[in-house]
Amino acid sequence: MALLTQAPRGTQDILPADSAKWQKMEDVMRQEAHLQGFGEIRTPVFEHTELFLRSVGETTDVVQKEMYTFKDKGDRSITLRPEGTAGAVRAMLEHGLYNEGLPVKLYYFTSCYRYEKAQKGRLREFHQFGVEMFGSASPLADAQVIALAASVFQRLGIRDLSLEINSIGCPECRARYTAALKEYFSAYTDQLCETCLSRLERNPMRILDCKSPICAGIAEGAPRMLDYLCEDCSRHFEGVKHSLTEIGIPYTVNPTIVRGLDYYTRTVFEFISTATGAPLTVCAGGRYDGLVEEMGGPSMPALGFGLGMERALMILEAQKADLAEKNPCSVFIAALGEEASFAAFRMAHELRLSGISAACDVNGRGLKAQMKYADKIGALYSMVLGDNELQTGEAVLKNMETGEKHTVFIGDGFLEQFAAIEAEDDLKRDFPQLSENKE
Ligand code: ATP
Ligand code: MG
Repeated sequence: MALLTQAPRGTQDILPADSAKWQKMEDVMRQEAHLQGFGEIRTPVFEHTELFLRSVGETTDVVQKEMYTFKDKGDRSITLRPEGTAGAVRAMLEHGLYNEGLPVKLYYFTSCYRYEKAQKGRLREFHQFGVEMFGSASPLADAQVIALAASVFQRLGIRDLSLEINSIGCPECRARYTAALKEYFSAYTDQLCETCLSRLERNPMRILDCKSPICAGIAEGAPRMLDYLCEDCSRHFEGVKHSLTEIGIPYTVNPTIVRGLDYYTRTVFEFISTATGAPLTVCAGGRYDGLVEEMGGPSMPALGFGLGMERALMILEAQKADLAEKNPCSVFIAALGEEASFAAFRMAHELRLSGISAACDVNGRGLKAQMKYADKIGALYSMVLGDNELQTGEAVLKNMETGEKHTVFIGDGFLEQFAAIEAEDDLKRDFPQLSENKE
């Protein structure tokens, strides 16, 4: 039975009580993206496996251990997207978006799938807000993308984040660096984990991203990419730092940040929080100047980030930020008797058409139970319709918080009266001294 009543490991339901917080986060992200001229892209949940092998990289954890890959009924290898960039690049190329003027600026909300060891902050289905910018090699583009994430965090009220940046160079300077790394790690073959041993041959930089404490300890003494940057990469990195300083975004240079996906070049960055205990990366990204061409497109610099929604929410909750958007029912219309229940149903429908959230009984409950339900859903006002009200065309509207009552029309005129009552109650709530002065 557990299979029927328990969600798969590493997945989460988002229930109405929490979805209001998600919506608030998404609103802020959407607004910020639009403010900076990014347009939303929605791509499929699954793609050809080949796409991720090519873009994410064959030596990465994601490709080697974490992908949800299966054969579909047509015997094609299909993978549930483990991240958002590959699909965005594929779609950008497929639809030739780069012909419409550069830079192309895209944002998305996606679910991502990775078969990981499920634990706090690490899920098998998680969600990202991501942005991608294609066609600018300027350090200003790096700073703009980083600034977008920083503004989102600021507007959400996430405090005490550290922005850590690094440069991992271009294929030319990285070749020299990789050789130096190989030499360094070769002295530790008796201690490195199995995965890192295979990385030593194929992609030694990946060792710097290993989560095993032993490998991480060895990595501490490894040569640093920043010492190997070529002149162009070095100038670019200086430009990024300068642009961030220009717009007042504090950062730390952290030479150990290399990122977990293969396609990165030059700038890489992470926003890290300790609000939930151990350091948690909530947003990560960087440049991937070679990827578009690698995927068969024109040579085109690009960059972006992915921001983990679940992790952002964990931090907000740890910081006790008030994210709950109140969205209760404005008016509950209780009914006594069959005729009145049709009248209540009709009135609730009409109120909704006018943009007022309204509810009525749909369970055939008695009056007392209806009022109890109104209380439970946090209705702001309630009214009761019975034979008497239907005859006179008037009912009593009760403010559920203060208990104050008003006689109102139940047909024409209700909307105007209701708006006036609501406005007055709002005023009283915001300025309690006003009602005191009246008495
Ligand atoms: P990590 O080093 O934590 O495994 P990563 O390098 O695999 O992260 P990215 O691929 O850069 O992460 O993903 C971007 C962001 O997505 C992360 O910074 C994080 O906020 C979020 N994220 C990644 N994997 C998960 C996961 N399994 N569960 C929840 N959020 C995740
Ligand atoms: Mg990972």
